Amino acid sequence: MIVRTVQGDVAPGSLGPADYHEHFFHTTALLPGEDLDDEERALAEARLVHAAGLRTVVDATPIGIGRRPAALARVARGSGLTIVAATGAHREAHYPSGHWLRELDAGALAALFVRDLTEGMPAQDEPGSPSAAATDVRAGFIKTGIGYWSVSAFESTVLEAAAQAHHRTGAAVMVHLEHGSAAHEVLDRLAALGVAPSRVILAHMDRSPDRILFAELASRGAFLGCDGAARLKEWPEAMLIDAIGAAIAAGAGDRILIGGDVARRSRFTSYAGMPGMAYLPRRFLPRLRQVIGDDAADRLLVANPAAAFTMNDAPESTGTDPERYA
Ligand SMILES: [Zn+2]
Repeated sequence: MIVRTVQGDVAPGSLGPADYHEHFFHTTALLPGEDLDDEERALAEARLVHAAGLRTVVDATPIGIGRRPAALARVARGSGLTIVAATGAHREAHYPSGHWLRELDAGALAALFVRDLTEGMPAQDEPGSPSAAATDVRAGFIKTGIGYWSVSAFESTVLEAAAQAHHRTGAAVMVHLEHGSAAHEVLDRLAALGVAPSRVILAHMDRSPDRILFAELASRGAFLGCDGAARLKEWPEAMLIDAIGAAIAAGAGDRILIGGDVARRSRFTSYAGMPGMAYLPRRFLPRLRQVIGDDAADRLLVANPAAAFTMNDAPESTGTDPERYA
């Protein structure tokens, strides 16, 4: 049982406090002017996060939106952070029509995902050749995504490919949920493809800070990614913290993951933006600790990501039994 990081395999227990969802490198037509493409700035941001007390950051940038595996390994080495990288594909809106990734069938996509997880990611996904020069930097999990209460044909193919790659590698599957929608539905879909809910990480669950939904999904065994801090236009952070606290009281304390998902140039300290990736450990986590207590917070930050990102030796097969993960 290992976690596969950009610097090699480590014991899950060695991750320390982890931010389950960020992007050191990210370029997408969906966010014009917000490209994260500068290695020196990525390193500077990573150092701030490390200085603020986190020890692991998961980079959730999948194929074709500006990931830079060799640079990510250098950022890990230079900052002291453990970094886990992603393979997979984002929701369809990130890829313009005609993008080479959208032309591949599930088998071809799965082959790319397995290559990234077992051999190494290519130095560059773009300008479009899946056979670009390889690095020896491997991904540690499979990213997928769906739209708001919708799964396009491409997104459905990616889910199928992710399930295939999961069966061949034991890597966890992360799903981007638009505004937290369709969580049960995507768990059903993945279960039908043989991916147990306990191997699924539902990203952006707290875009719908719903303690009842959190408890339901946790009882199925899924990991719930809470990464909505510092989005004050939508609601105060107290609402997120209260939802997390209520979900823990309802038994979800071993399923919740905490991340920042800063993801934009205008929000990175190193690009002269605010609030920066270190906002999570410096501002949000102390507030969360005040409400849920240190033991519960440590579980969310240390034990849960270690469990969520472990690559199983023998992948689990199908199952939606709520007792399964216990
Ligand atoms: Zn993200």
